Amino acid sequence: MALRKKLCESSNFNGKLMYTFSRYFSSNKMDLRKLKPMIQKRIQDRAKDYPVLGMIPVAQEVLNSRRLIMQGVSTLLKVLPVMACKFCPEVYIGEKGHLIQTCCGFKHRDKNRVHEWITGGLNDVLAPVEAFHLKHMFKDVIKHHQRFDFERVPAVVELCWQAGANDENQYSNWNPESDCFSVDGAESLPSDELLMIASGTLRAWEILRNGVEKLLTVYPAKVCNHCSEVHIGPSGHKARLSWQGTHFWRKANVDDLMPPKIVWRRRLQDPQVLLNEGRGFYGHAPAVVELCTQAGAVAPLKYHCLMKLQGVATLGNQSLYHPKDQM
Ligand SMILES: [Zn+2]
Ligand SMILES: [Zn+2]
Repeated sequence: MALRKKLCESSNFNGKLMYTFSRYFSSNKMDLRKLKPMIQKRIQDRAKDYPVLGMIPVAQEVLNSRRLIMQGVSTLLKVLPVMACKFCPEVYIGEKGHLIQTCCGFKHRDKNRVHEWITGGLNDVLAPVEAFHLKHMFKDVIKHHQRFDFERVPAVVELCWQAGANDENQYSNWNPESDCFSVDGAESLPSDELLMIASGTLRAWEILRNGVEKLLTVYPAKVCNHCSEVHIGPSGHKARLSWQGTHFWRKANVDDLMPPKIVWRRRLQDPQVLLNEGRGFYGHAPAVVELCTQAGAVAPLKYHCLMKLQGVATLGNQSLYHPKDQM
């Protein structure tokens, strides 16, 4: 009898609990339905805060710098050779490529092979990163089946447009040819004019990277951890491009939008071709920086360590120079 009473109480208790759950469940559903217009209004109101007025000149400057870099690099490539590996993303600014065994082959299947060099071009120095062009940044998430409804434009350009920069390309179809024409007669330019182009390009590169960094503090951008797809906007998208599966979005940084393409570089003292045995003695630099310095521009101080301009490695104040340096 006592047990039955206990069970009864317990089931009563369960009943009460279930009732409470059901009330919360339905009231929750009610709340969501009521909340929906409020949420939509908040999103609309948030859109009114954009573009942030103070950031418009930054976006405009980034857009202009980008065009200048494309034109500068296109011009310098008429004079300076760039080599690219047939099987991996490795690039070298120079005539013959190098013999450093860092080739991972097609689809990363190999390890530590010598690269196979072919003539490179603009895209090897400035890796193209594209994103969907949205009419406004708080657009609903793009679904997979909608992927052809949106134009693909350079990610930096999309960031600048969303940040309020004005550009005639914005209202017509994106023409990738429009900003990579080179200076006429680049092949026969005197060295001082070439130096001016190289210095201007390098300065524009720094302005662009600083500007993009500033814009990314205000405007959200995402990059996929698996396929490096970039999305400018708060939400990411659901369009699968080359990788079959869901994107894993994380916050994008300036390198995701404008990859620096780090290349091996020869120091002044080193022989013409970089050999695998001496790899510890060679420097690195972003491809644009290396291209511009080879045309005579002075690299900003922040790259000197990476480029090993002051020797091989430093231990406190003491530099450890390669024996060759003392010759
Ligand atoms: Zn390779
Ligand atoms: Zn992905």
